[in-house]
Amino acid sequence: MSISSATPDQAMSVHGAPLPDTPIRTLVLLGASGDLAHRLLMPALGKLLDAEPQRRDLVLVGAGAEDWDAAAWHDRLEDSLTKGDVSRETIDALLATTSYQRADVTKADDLRRLVQAGEAAPALYFALPPAVTAKACDALVDVELPEGTVLVLEKPFGTDEASAKALNARLAGLVPEDRTFRVDHFLGRATVLNLLGVRFANRIFEPVWNAGHVASVDIVFDEPLTLEGRAGYYDKAGALVDMIQSHLLQVMALVAMDPVGSVSAFDLRESKAEVLRATRVWGGDAALASRRARYSAGSIGGREVPDYVHEPGVDPARNTETLAEVTLEIDNWRWAGVPFRLRSGKSVGTQRKEVVVTFKPVPHLPTGLTGTCEPDRLRLVMGPDAIALDLNVNGEDDPMGIDHVTLDTELSPGRLPAYGEVLAGVLDGDPLLAVRGDTAVECWRIVDSVLKAWAADETPMETYAAGTQGPEGWPV
Ligand code: NDP
Repeated sequence: MSISSATPDQAMSVHGAPLPDTPIRTLVLLGASGDLAHRLLMPALGKLLDAEPQRRDLVLVGAGAEDWDAAAWHDRLEDSLTKGDVSRETIDALLATTSYQRADVTKADDLRRLVQAGEAAPALYFALPPAVTAKACDALVDVELPEGTVLVLEKPFGTDEASAKALNARLAGLVPEDRTFRVDHFLGRATVLNLLGVRFANRIFEPVWNAGHVASVDIVFDEPLTLEGRAGYYDKAGALVDMIQSHLLQVMALVAMDPVGSVSAFDLRESKAEVLRATRVWGGDAALASRRARYSAGSIGGREVPDYVHEPGVDPARNTETLAEVTLEIDNWRWAGVPFRLRSGKSVGTQRKEVVVTFKPVPHLPTGLTGTCEPDRLRLVMGPDAIALDLNVNGEDDPMGIDHVTLDTELSPGRLPAYGEVLAGVLDGDPLLAVRGDTAVECWRIVDSVLKAWAADETPMETYAAGTQGPEGWPV
C-alpha cells in the first residue's frame, strides 16, 4: 500500500506515517564488512533496538565479498555494537538470529538467495560503493522481489543529473517510489529535524520568514577533520559533491520550504521538492556564484597536516577542492532576492556547523537611541546542538545606547544517532526522511552547473592553510 492511499485507522509509525501492510522484519546489509556498516549502521541499529526493544525480533543478514564464517561475522557484529555502546540485551537478540552470506551482489543468483533469506519482504541496504550499487540494481531486474521489499541506497545517488535520472528509472522498475529509500542521514540529525519544530511550532518566526525580513541565509558545515583515511572516496567527490549536493541542499530545503499541513512523507517531501525546483545559482552564473579552495600544509590543534595533494590516496590531477561555497537563489515569492550561501570545508581551524538566518535592519532607529544595531540573527548549531538568537538591547552603561546579546540554549542531541532515525524509517516503511527521486535529480541539476564551470576552470582554485578558516577574504 502506498502511503498516500492509507486508511484513516491504519497504525502510525514513529514518524507519523501509516505503517505498511508488510512491515520489515529482515534487514539485509549488503557490504557488511565496509566502513559505513561497521562504524555507523550497525551501532545505530543497536541503539534503535535499545530505544525500541519491540523491534528486537528483527533478523539481520550480513552480506559481502568477505569469506566469513558465522563466528567471524558474530565477532565483527559484536565489535561494532560494543563500540557503539549498545546494551547486552540487544547484542544477544541480534546475535541469536543473525547470519552472514558471502555474495557477489552484482550477480542475480547471489541476490536471489539474499532476498529469500527472511520469511517476508526484506529491506536491502546497499552499503556499497556507488558503482557496485548501480550494478546490483541492474542485476535485481532478474530477481523476483516480494511485494513490500524496500531498497535503501546511500549517497552519492548518481554522479550528475543524467545518471541520477537513469538510476531512478532503473529503481522504478524494481519497487514503488515509496519503497525506495535514498538515504541522506543529515535528515535524521536532531538539529535538522529541529528546524521543523522551530519554524512551525512557534508563532514568532513564520511571519518574518521571507524576503521582506530576511537578508540572507548561510548554511555552513566547516570541520577540522581531514581525510580520515577516506581519500579513495573524497578525492573523487570533493566538498561540493560530498556535502553541498546532498546534505546542505536538503537542509536548505527544510529552511526554505513552505509550511506543511502534516509532517508526513507525502507533504514534507513535496514541500521540499517545490523549493528545490525553484532553486538556481545566484544570478544564473555558476562561475561567479561559487568559490573553491584546497588546503595546504598547516596545523590543527597541534597536529601537523600535510598539503592536501600530498595526503595518501590523493591524485593531484583531479584538482579536488576541500572547501566549496555556492550562493543560490530561490525564485519564488517568499525568497526572491535573498542569497542562500551553502559552504563546507575540511581541515579548518575551528568547527562551524550551523544554519544562520540573518534578518534585515530595522526600518528606523528612534532618535535618542545611540550606537549601532547588528543584524538580528537566528542560529541553529549542529553539534553540540544549540539554538541562538542575536539581538540588540539597551546598553548596560548607557541606558539609551545599543548593546548586543545572544540568547542561546543547548539542545538535546536526540534520542538516536542520525542513522538510527534513518533505520527506523526503513523498518517502518516510512520514507519521510528519505530523499524522493525527483528531488535527488533537482539537487544534481543545481550543482551540475557549478561542476561544469569548475571543470572549465572558470572559477579559480584558491588556497588556505590547514587550521585557518579558509582563504583570506572569504566571509565566514
Ligand atoms: P567501503 O568501501 O568501506 O565498503 C564497501 C563494502 O562493499 C565492502 O564491504 C566491500 O567488500 C563491499 N563490496 C564491494 N563490492 C562488492 C561486491 N561485488 N559484492 C559484495 N560486496 C561488495 O565503503 P563505505 O562503507 O565507506 O561506503 C558505502 C557507501 O556508503 C558509499 O556509497 C558511501 O558513499 C556511503 N557513505 C559512507 C560513509 C562512511 O562514513 N563510510 C558516510 C556516508 C555515506 P570488500 O571490502 O570485501 O570488497
